[in-house]
Amino acid sequence: MPRLGLLLALLIASAPAFGQDRRSDEHSYAQPDKVRIRDLALDLAVDFEKRQLTGSATLGLEWVDPAQRDLVLDTRDLAIAAVEARNGKRKFREVPFVLAERDERFGSKLTITLPRQYEQVRIRYATSPQASGLQWLSPAMTAGGKTPFMFSQSQAIHARSWVPLQDTPSVRFTYTARIRTPATVMALMSADNDPAAVRDGDYTFSMPQAIPSYLMAIAAGDLVFKPISARAGVWAEPQTLDKAVKEFEDTEEMIQVTESLYGPYRWERYDLLILPPSFPFGGMENPRLSFITPTVIVGDKSLVSLIAHELAHSWSGNLVTNASWKDMWLNEGFTSYVENRIVEALYGKARADMEFVISRNGLLDQLKDLPPERQVLVLPMRGGSDPEDALGAVAYDKGAWFLQFLEQRYGREDFDAFLRAWFDAHAFQSADSDQFLAFLKSNLMAKRPGVVSEAEVMEWLSAPGVPAFAPQTASPRFDAVDAARASWLEQRAAARELDTAAWTTQEWVYFLEGLPEILDAERLVELDQAFRFTGTGNGELAQRWYPLTVRSGYFEARPAMSLFLRKIGRRKLVMPTYDALSKSEEGLAFATQVFAMARPGYHPITSASVEALLARARAAQKTPD
Ligand SMILES: [Zn+2]
Repeated sequence: MPRLGLLLALLIASAPAFGQDRRSDEHSYAQPDKVRIRDLALDLAVDFEKRQLTGSATLGLEWVDPAQRDLVLDTRDLAIAAVEARNGKRKFREVPFVLAERDERFGSKLTITLPRQYEQVRIRYATSPQASGLQWLSPAMTAGGKTPFMFSQSQAIHARSWVPLQDTPSVRFTYTARIRTPATVMALMSADNDPAAVRDGDYTFSMPQAIPSYLMAIAAGDLVFKPISARAGVWAEPQTLDKAVKEFEDTEEMIQVTESLYGPYRWERYDLLILPPSFPFGGMENPRLSFITPTVIVGDKSLVSLIAHELAHSWSGNLVTNASWKDMWLNEGFTSYVENRIVEALYGKARADMEFVISRNGLLDQLKDLPPERQVLVLPMRGGSDPEDALGAVAYDKGAWFLQFLEQRYGREDFDAFLRAWFDAHAFQSADSDQFLAFLKSNLMAKRPGVVSEAEVMEWLSAPGVPAFAPQTASPRFDAVDAARASWLEQRAAARELDTAAWTTQEWVYFLEGLPEILDAERLVELDQAFRFTGTGNGELAQRWYPLTVRSGYFEARPAMSLFLRKIGRRKLVMPTYDALSKSEEGLAFATQVFAMARPGYHPITSASVEALLARARAAQKTPD
């Protein structure tokens, strides 16, 4: 009996809390339990005329299942010319393959049939001009106006549109690459970029640390480098470089702060690549080379939490990676928490608290429209779904909130040590929510019993909404904004009389978010004359101001709004305005017109989101009530 009891206890302790198979990836055709990519060698030519990458990918394989002969890869819109295989340094020999019919979300499964378990497979291929993971910009769409530009965005499942591979975060591999471009173009990758590289159109790269496919990245354009420190610097078009270096000059200090909290930075260099305004996201944590939107360069460092975020991914995400996208909170929740710690260390608690309040208000707002099953951190299996659906505020802000809850209950000393141990224990591995829960139980909850109950943890992880016992963050600076806004709304003070001299982006964002849904157009005129929101160069303000003008029928803002929507392609910044416009027939017509002009400059990811939104709006307006 005792032995059986022990066995039972062990079984219970090791049973997965969230169901059997959190490591399996329903967004990939690959079979990593049978064979895994260990290394990738790319040899690609960049053709700006054809908007195409052409060449080969050679995969180094580790066979897991002795009976396995097929190698199944993810591809999307790739033209496969030939597949070859070999052992060691022998001659490649051609092998048969079948490219399945294209699935709208997941692309085409590539099945390579091998007579034996070869060590290397080489695929000769070309990308499509419509590759979902690449954007090609004509010279006119760049800051310099002379050189074309291209860049990749592989997360979540777009790497397969430019490299045939196992496109799942549960597989890691090292890579090397030879990239050829026109001689006037500089190429960079998520690899060992050399700050002193000679621009000659022929570049080689090596990434010796194993990464998952979504961190594969490439960019090419008129890119120059300027250092921030010995190991950090900025790549950008010459016209943007100095502004970016100034805005992001604290990057080295950010690295040091994060190292002091969570251990050494393990990727050698940390550089920033400033992309054109069409980049669909704020940033992308490509290892050694974060891709950054230029929309956070506003002159006063008020939006550099984005750099803190992408840097934080060097620990959470790039070092310890969610095994599948349904556990994305392990990447984004941890990163949002670490981001806030970096901001606090560099810019003070008042700013960190303001940023927490803004993101939590955004989360609470999103929760109003989300079905309960998508309000949980540990998402259920989601076969057939788009993994980008998981990219919302729940993974980011509810995830960070949960970690802040643990931090406050256990105290910083113990919680910081715990988090550092989590990164150390899973470095260069993929992890799932079951592993996190087991680690939390054995490394924190068991050592400090009674501080946090299992029921509380499970409510954070598996229940919709935000627990009633979640810590609340107060912000005296936002209290002052509330008071100023109220005195204006109640007409006790004119807009220009408000004491806004010391306000930063965060205060302005909070001010705008607290305004009523609709205001009289004259009141908007007053605000606009006092604060010049229309035409603002700060996308965080534009993102909130323009929808308010649409709802309120303040048509004077339309020309500047149209300009903003055509210049900026960052999805988060433009979607709220398109959304507000799509609510009326007149607005929808205006949005359709602007989108038609903006579209050639948008990234496919942003285009797809706007198109879906406008199509839904059109369908809804056609349906009689
Ligand atoms: Zn992130």
